[in-house]
Amino acid sequence: MSSLWIDTTNELDQSKSLGKDLTCDVCIIGAGIAGLSTGYYLCKQGLKVIILDKSYIGTKTSGNTTGKITFQHNLIYDYLINSKSEKYAKAYLDANKKAILNIKNIIDEEQIDCDFENQANYVYTTKQEELHKIHKEIQALHILGEEAEFVTNCDLPFKIVGALKENNQAQIHLRKYMLGLANCIKQKGGEIYTNSTVINVKKDNNEYITFANNYEIKSKYIIQACHYPFINFPGFYFSKMYQSTSYVIAVDTHTNLFGGMYINPHEPIYSFRTAKFKDKRLLLIAGADHKTGFAPDENKSYKLLENFAKKHYPKSEILYKWNTRDCISLDKIPYIGEFSSLLPNAYVATGFNKWGITGSNIAANIITDKILGKENKYAFVFDSRRVEPIKNREEVKNMTSQVFKSFISNRIKIPHADLEQIKNDNGGIIKLDGINIGIYKDASGNIFAINPTCTHLGCLLTWNNLDKTWDCPCHGSRFNFKGENIYDPAFKNLDKFEIL
Ligand SMILES: Cc1cc2nc3c(=O)[nH]c(=O)nc-3n(C[C@H](O)[C@H](O)[C@H](O)COP(=O)(O)OP(=O)(O)OC[C@H]3O[C@@H](n4cnc5c(N)ncnc54)[C@H](O)[C@@H]3O)c2cc1C
Repeated sequence: MSSLWIDTTNELDQSKSLGKDLTCDVCIIGAGIAGLSTGYYLCKQGLKVIILDKSYIGTKTSGNTTGKITFQHNLIYDYLINSKSEKYAKAYLDANKKAILNIKNIIDEEQIDCDFENQANYVYTTKQEELHKIHKEIQALHILGEEAEFVTNCDLPFKIVGALKENNQAQIHLRKYMLGLANCIKQKGGEIYTNSTVINVKKDNNEYITFANNYEIKSKYIIQACHYPFINFPGFYFSKMYQSTSYVIAVDTHTNLFGGMYINPHEPIYSFRTAKFKDKRLLLIAGADHKTGFAPDENKSYKLLENFAKKHYPKSEILYKWNTRDCISLDKIPYIGEFSSLLPNAYVATGFNKWGITGSNIAANIITDKILGKENKYAFVFDSRRVEPIKNREEVKNMTSQVFKSFISNRIKIPHADLEQIKNDNGGIIKLDGINIGIYKDASGNIFAINPTCTHLGCLLTWNNLDKTWDCPCHGSRFNFKGENIYDPAFKNLDKFEIL
């Protein structure tokens, strides 16, 4: 199902797919919030920018967000002070505060109508044993010179034990904002091409050649704002991040709703806000996170959120439900800046840890400053080339080891008994001569067979029966039941097999 945001925005997408060779200063891969924010600032500085997207503007992670604009990324500052330093935590805070102001300024200056609303943000808990974490976070904010209030009451329809409250945060209809940015980019001379999957980038002396739709774009600079960098070597981002999926429902509660934005710190995470919808307001509930690629359970995803809504608002009517995923860096800090020391003039913005709205604005400013040769005082916080210990060695091993033996033929015969293992309207992997074959049987028993090896780095895919997709547990790429790629970092389809 489409998100509330995508469903309520016209496809202002007059943008067309790439149909000729072009030259520009900066080629940006990805028209999500990161690519568009960066494109906006670069165009404003007079650079010739081309943005390529394999899908439509803002229809991937950014089109499926919850749209909270806050520097309070759940509990983060106590962690940052302890794991990095006070200076580092302060710079992270200031960068995010500045990003909120920047977004507000763009909206005012460019007159983008995107339901921007000033809101207080709460990190709340219902558990007595978690309360000390809220207090520690407030203490950390005070150390950093930030006002943060402790409250024991809020407008949520259930009792909390305590919450950290920050005023002057905001919420937004992010897709309206992105379409507004896209318009500004075009007005300032930039070009956006959709349905244009970048399949390769090559370096030729001092310029990059980006390949999409059988055409080439030559540029001095390239920016991978494609959510998950698709260039694997150098960079090695696949060993520094994983993806996590969350679910969102938009509910007509048929009652008056609260103000403010809310999130709790620990599993199961519930995040709340309200949103304008026609002449009423809807309640948005997000949560039920899990590592992308691990088969989701209806009861632990949408049902969990729906039950919650119905318990507290018995007249609840679910109007929208959707899910999406984001890249999670191993140290909770996005990767922004140079893609690799081996590739000059190539930049990246990724690993936003589900807080990519302020993160993208920070990225846009850092990368713009780098291209203009200006210093950016927050760049050191997000340095994409930082060397962090890889904490989860088991995961990294999984990420790289499951390489598939290649098939000689794409026509295969599977014993009837093996096929019987998979029920109708379900999928799974069966083994044939020690080789994995991904099977999906639709409701009528039609069989779709694919090679369940991710075309990104060869991990074994898992079947997701909720969305009828093949998902990668290593890096989060996703494919539909026919094997067609729907989510990065992979961009190639899976091999299909014909069952004899
Ligand atoms: C459920 C959920 C709720 C969230 N809520 C919030 C929130 O309230 N506040 C907040 O700050 N953050 C939130 N986030 C995080 C935020 O939405 C993301 O960090 C942000 O949208 C990521 O933006 P992006 O531009 O990097 O990625 P995307 O929006 O995914 O954009 C990347 C683009 O690159 C394109 N692309 C990929 N590969 C290629 C290729 N090979 N060639 C051409 N194009 C390509 C894709 O089609 C896509 O359009 C949330 C995340 C989730 C999962």
